Amino acid sequence: MAPRPEPKTAAPLIPRRPTIGKLRAAAAQCTACPLYADATQTVFGEGPVPAGLMLVGETPGDQEDRMGRPFVGPAGKLLDRCLAEVGIARDEAYVTNAVKHFKWGPRGKRRLHKKPNALEIAACRPWLAAEIALVKPKVLVLLGATAAQTLLGGDFRVSRERGKPIRSSLASYVMATVHPSALLRAPDDATRHREIAHFVIELRRVAAVLEKSY
Ligand code: SF4
Repeated sequence: MAPRPEPKTAAPLIPRRPTIGKLRAAAAQCTACPLYADATQTVFGEGPVPAGLMLVGETPGDQEDRMGRPFVGPAGKLLDRCLAEVGIARDEAYVTNAVKHFKWGPRGKRRLHKKPNALEIAACRPWLAAEIALVKPKVLVLLGATAAQTLLGGDFRVSRERGKPIRSSLASYVMATVHPSALLRAPDDATRHREIAHFVIELRRVAAVLEKSY
């Protein structure tokens, strides 16, 4: 039987001497997985390079897809508010997603977010790896299971390990927690307030680690 062809990834598109600008320009042309076809544009990371803090989400959402910027929709606004509560300005952090194109399915006139599959995540991983190599964060915060499992392995469980800064070769500390969109999906106000407070406590831990490392 003929060997199965290797799944396609973005690896051949990574420039030889990458800068964030070169990566962003190359990623804008990426067709390594099918997600580019139904999305408006590639949504690459943004923020200072290098940066003490890097945050990684899952995929761009509807508004991010239209605007071409990560974390500018409702979940991004909540993230900004929670970061501000612990004294971190959004523009001090490099913010990106594990997968750079919006994956969605139609519901009436709306475009509903869909979770990327393992092949799409693997195809996009070289962009994320290249970003981490340039940003060189002291603290890497992984927002949600997709980001955590992309970088820490498929066995990693956010529900078990959330909020614990761990030593890693990716950054001095890596901490996984929930994605802010999960906070917005809380079933009622009381749960949402409680979950947001929990998330802010975790970010406070991040702020403390960052402060110690300067
Ligand atoms: S999701 Fe990632 S790998 Fe897939 S086309 Fe977009 S940039 Fe390329």
